[in-house]
Amino acid sequence: MKEMNVPKAQTGHPKGLYVLFATEMWERFNYYGMRAVLILFMTKALLFDKAFASNLYGSYTGLVYITPLVGGYISDRYWGNRRSIIAGGLIMAIGEFILFFCGSMYHSAAPQITSLLFFSGLGFMIAGNGFFKPNISSLVGQLYPKGDRRIDSAYTIFYMGINVGGAFGPLACGFFGDTGNPADFKWAFLIGGIGMLLSVLVQVLFHHKYVKGSDGEVIGLTPATSTKLSTSPIMIVGGLLAFAFLAIVLIYVDANIFNYLFYLLIAAVTFIAIIIFSDKTLSGREKSKVSVVFIVSFFVIFFWSAFEQAGASLSFFADEQTDRNLGSFLVPASFFQSLNSVFVVSFAPLFAWLWVKLGKNDPSSPTKMAWGLLLLCIGYLWIAFGVKNVQPGIKVSMIWLTGMYALHTCGELCLSPIGLSLVNKLAPVKFASLLMAVWFTANAFANKFAGVLSALYPDNRTTNFLGIYEMTDLYSFFMLFVAMSGIAALILFLLTKQLQKMMQS
Ligand code: GLN
Repeated sequence: MKEMNVPKAQTGHPKGLYVLFATEMWERFNYYGMRAVLILFMTKALLFDKAFASNLYGSYTGLVYITPLVGGYISDRYWGNRRSIIAGGLIMAIGEFILFFCGSMYHSAAPQITSLLFFSGLGFMIAGNGFFKPNISSLVGQLYPKGDRRIDSAYTIFYMGINVGGAFGPLACGFFGDTGNPADFKWAFLIGGIGMLLSVLVQVLFHHKYVKGSDGEVIGLTPATSTKLSTSPIMIVGGLLAFAFLAIVLIYVDANIFNYLFYLLIAAVTFIAIIIFSDKTLSGREKSKVSVVFIVSFFVIFFWSAFEQAGASLSFFADEQTDRNLGSFLVPASFFQSLNSVFVVSFAPLFAWLWVKLGKNDPSSPTKMAWGLLLLCIGYLWIAFGVKNVQPGIKVSMIWLTGMYALHTCGELCLSPIGLSLVNKLAPVKFASLLMAVWFTANAFANKFAGVLSALYPDNRTTNFLGIYEMTDLYSFFMLFVAMSGIAALILFLLTKQLQKMMQS
């Protein structure tokens, strides 16, 4: 008889969850550790100007959110989750090692070689993430029978894994890589790459033993729809290399030649909307729920584009405008990028308690998301206040950046998990993946937009937003985000009643 993996008490979690926790934790360690030094590496080692580096940061993080659509599709049909996680993880580790080479030789190599290595490293990271991220997230849900009440808490535990990695990555990579000597950035990439290999190792060693569904069968293996050819080593290696090559071209073109990514993402969402709304089998009720997904996805763009300044303009701010002396220790600018994750781990239980405590008065999902935007707005108001009337060249206390990240994290906890589960709940089964794609596309758009906005950082120059708002100092720069998120919050608050009706119709 097959050994059943159903825990006796339905309160415990299967061991597989902790295997996925560790896999994700090391991957996020790699991703956020690298991101913590990325813009500093671009501006201090590669000597890119801030505007170019910001735009490129947007191209990179934007593409990181869009490749999971491809990776998810191929895994579901051909490769299975486990194979995709391992392959994607190895591709990301290669990306980090290419960046390590780039960081080791940028001062002596010809600029073309440096540039080739740099874009290749980023392209590999983008391609690998596309296979890793959607698969690890979907495995979590598969550990439980459909409708199991433990799934929500499993995702909360998993989110902790993300943020333990997100907290330690910038600390480890920042400590060894962000030392004040640009030649040291390479160590951050090396450490990130090692973290990624550890993630893959956890999968290789423990998946078969522990990652099992409620029927005791190992999950995430090759799907029935797969073919022998599609899982042959040559197809996998060839396919991944081709995909990485495509990612290199995509990021190069978007950053250097033409910002096509915005148009591509708008076209993709429009296309998906046409497919869904023209489907005759969907009832009016279902279409109205789908509309809510599109509307909230639109609003999250304003959230993430301001939030994701963390790896861009806010890193310039941490580096140049923040007094980072803590006794005799000079806190590396990259350390500030771990604060968000540190605060998630600290505050998440508080929010979980709050939603339960509010019980029947628990606000609707769109209301919580509007609160998320408002908290983000207050975070920027806080830092804008901190830099108001500060003379150029004078550094401000770390309290401003730290307080802002605490407020942003409260916003994230109101908006991110709630939005994700809302999309899951409202999507008709038939279009579940497509609507998840809409959510990812909104994230991609926001990340690209974050880079474009960070390029407006007024660094001894005046910049302007769409020709209507001029920014001469950091105060006016931060107020742009106050206005953007504040207006979005207000409109979403005004729309909540209508959205609730559409969700229940
Ligand atoms: N910090 C989370 C992660 O890395 C969520 C980021 C997001 O949804 N934009 O997975």
